[in-house]
Amino acid sequence: MHLGVTSAFSDDVAIDLGTANTLVYVAGRGIIIDEPSVVAVRAHRGVREILAVGRKAKALIGRAPESLEIVRPLRDGVIADFVATEEMLRQFIKRTKSMLGFRRPRILICVPAGATPVERRAVYDTAMSLGARKVYLIAEPVAASLGAGLPIEEPGGAMVVDIGGGTTDIAVLSGGIIISARTLRCAGHAMDEAIVRYVRRTHQLLIGEASAERIKVEAGTAQASVNGRAAEVHIRGRDLRKGVAKSVVLTPKDVAEALSEPIETIADFVQRTLEELPPDILSDITRRGINLTGGGALLDKIDVALTRRVGVKFHVQRNPMQCVVKGSAAVLAGLSEHAHLLMRP
Ligand code: ADP
Ligand code: MG
Repeated sequence: MHLGVTSAFSDDVAIDLGTANTLVYVAGRGIIIDEPSVVAVRAHRGVREILAVGRKAKALIGRAPESLEIVRPLRDGVIADFVATEEMLRQFIKRTKSMLGFRRPRILICVPAGATPVERRAVYDTAMSLGARKVYLIAEPVAASLGAGLPIEEPGGAMVVDIGGGTTDIAVLSGGIIISARTLRCAGHAMDEAIVRYVRRTHQLLIGEASAERIKVEAGTAQASVNGRAAEVHIRGRDLRKGVAKSVVLTPKDVAEALSEPIETIADFVQRTLEELPPDILSDITRRGINLTGGGALLDKIDVALTRRVGVKFHVQRNPMQCVVKGSAAVLAGLSEHAHLLMRP
């Protein structure tokens, strides 16, 4: 094999810049970074200094001095903090480059389908300024469709619903054409917030969002059933009336009730998207079902709950949290045939 050709191929880097997690995939190597999209910022006399990103920054939550701010710059699917987002991207790209020792990679970055031109430009410029040879952008759910292995170049509609942290993204593709790509700002974080509200309402107990997320992952279910999940969780929080520490037990049934509102919102969004599709494509999707990706797809029985509400069968993809980055890597590997799927910066 000619060495020059091999090294040119391994210059390809795909980045899933998610609201909750960022993944980096290098051609020929696989996923080399999988870390939370978190940045630790220290503000001192009006100057902001970035102290850590990713896992290191997340580990500082609750352990940091007051002057330290832990930021999730993309939390709601919009870039709320451009400086922190750029710095996070910069550090992940730098790390990738130093790990591989190559000079000017081609980088493909995924952004939510609903990212604004200003947000897309910020992401594009940051990657370019780090010495990328070329930078490409793609909508997250479009990448997820490829990562899920759907036959998107063939005629016949295929639909992906990607439930992430800040956003639920939908893409519908047919014959290689993007029929629909849209973003809803309700996903995993909204589920955590719904649990916080539920516990406050039913137990007069104040808990943090990190505890709520743990409850969702450990005992959460989208639909409690007789022979379903049995795990109960004990949670500690602050009693709202007495102000003292208190602990309560939640059952999967409680959590299902807490989660019903965000799940209903996601189901409505899917329903609206279906209603706007051309009839032929709608009938393809009704026949083939809808594919679920993203961390939210790991919620117990989310497929059952959505199938019941929408009336079309949902299928959870294997390794749902990796579909976006793997699909992006596939786009980069076959750029000439997939160029029409890219987004303009
Ligand atoms: P993003 O692409 O927006 O970064 P991810 O696809 O990485 O998001 O998914 C992160 C979301 O998935 C978080 O809200 C997290 O709480 C949720 N999540 C992860 N694992 C589970 C699980 N087992 N059950 C329910 N939700 C989960
Ligand atoms: Mg994602």
